[in-house]
Amino acid sequence: MKEIRFEHVSKSYGKTEVVKDLNLTIKEGERLILLGPSGCGKSTTLRMIAGLEDVTSGSIYMDKQKVNDVPSGKRNVAMVFQNYALYPHMKVIDNITYGLKVKKMSADEIKHRTDAALEMLQLKQYKDRLPKDLSGGQRQRVALARAVVKQGDCFLLDEPLSNLDAQLRVSARKELVKIHETFKQTLVYVTHDQTEAMTVGDRIALMYQGKLQMVDTPDNVYHRP
Ligand code: ADP
Ligand code: ADP
Repeated sequence: MKEIRFEHVSKSYGKTEVVKDLNLTIKEGERLILLGPSGCGKSTTLRMIAGLEDVTSGSIYMDKQKVNDVPSGKRNVAMVFQNYALYPHMKVIDNITYGLKVKKMSADEIKHRTDAALEMLQLKQYKDRLPKDLSGGQRQRVALARAVVKQGDCFLLDEPLSNLDAQLRVSARKELVKIHETFKQTLVYVTHDQTEAMTVGDRIALMYQGKLQMVDTPDNVYHRP
């Protein structure tokens, strides 16, 4: 479990500053939502936590450690992308275990973690299928399973439900919260959907044009007098 802290973090692409002097502490074990309209800098912020983007200035800490120069593979984070980013030529089971094999984890431990994830996400009967032979909801569960088995300190999700139809999205939100209650990692979740933010989040960080506007509980963000 880890606390994530941004201190005066800015990010520019060329001359355009897309994240502006971000100061934010994401508490150990909480579910923090990054909410705001398309293009406001949410994904960039998430990718900086993952180490997929460098910061232009400022510092990011995980607990006491400054991680600006820690490569992505060493940050112990698990990320779920909007398009799921599954390996198309690998069966479900191989998509899920691949990262663990790369880390040279023991076969016993891989089996233990994978069986638990397949069970939890109801994927057992699909484990030998290729991603192209799955529905959107099933692919999304494979992407979640692949992140869950990593058991990283931080669970980072970028619009993970946006490709699902409305009904599936509602059940998937509940599933996500349940997964989090099992593992209790620090969870950072990017969405532009208010309802999603309110049902999934312990706290909501509202962004607009690269700037953090407020951070508070869903009740306080939406019902403040
Ligand atoms: P959001 O996730 O809120 O939709 P992003 O973080 O993806 O926003 O993008 C913030 C801004 O940065 C947008 O204007 C986007 O076009 C721009 N941007 C994102 N990635 C790049 C990049 N690799 N190069 C240049 N501009 C980028
Ligand atoms: P999202 O749905 O998260 O906003 P996008 O479709 O905007 O994602 O971006 C997909 C990829 O393209 C990301 O890796 C992002 O960094 C990059 N990107 C986004 N905007 C730009 C841009 N204006 N110029 C270059 N790359 C960009």
